[in-house]
Amino acid sequence: MLNTGLEEKGKTLMATVYLSLGGNMGDRDKYLAGARAAMETAFPGVRFSGVYETEPVDFLDQPWFLNQVAEIQTDLTPESLLEWARSLEERFGRQRNIPKGPRTLDIDILLYDHQILTGATLTVPHPELLNRRHVLVPLAELASDMMLPVGQLTVGQALKNVKDRSQVKLHASS
Ligand code: ADP
Ligand code: MG
Repeated sequence: MLNTGLEEKGKTLMATVYLSLGGNMGDRDKYLAGARAAMETAFPGVRFSGVYETEPVDFLDQPWFLNQVAEIQTDLTPESLLEWARSLEERFGRQRNIPKGPRTLDIDILLYDHQILTGATLTVPHPELLNRRHVLVPLAELASDMMLPVGQLTVGQALKNVKDRSQVKLHASS
């Protein structure tokens, strides 16, 4: 049988997806807690990494972030999941002003099963996945030995190799 990379649970095909959650405006803990609560409802069985306080990387003159990674099982398509994520960002008051700038809540799709997608609105794995310690550290907490669909390496190996030296400090354990 053709291996689609999708896991069959009952009659529904479920994908394993890793999402990153982050924010650096207002009450960062409150926004993350709100996002976690929404995810518990939408994706029963969701697993969360710890919460990390992280130094900004692209646009440096802004407050430090809180970052966390979630592992979910879903039957939503990648595009529908992105729409869901954007609606949650909007619920938490996100406005898109400066690209890479301050935000209350940012939700990115890091990995969607082992799929590689290069659409106009969605690139998966996330294009910066291999370059960012603030994503690889929490992801490694959940899935250090998982092979990535790009680069022929595991999450743990990607973390060992990453050149990014920005600070990633544990803020609250999961
Ligand atoms: P940032 O790059 O800081 O996360 P935004 O959250 O504003 O910036 O995202 C900009 C656009 O990136 C989104 O509108 C979305 O269409 C696109 N995008 C491409 N790939 C992804 C992905 N893997 N996860 C989330 N958004 C993505
Ligand atoms: Mg985003």
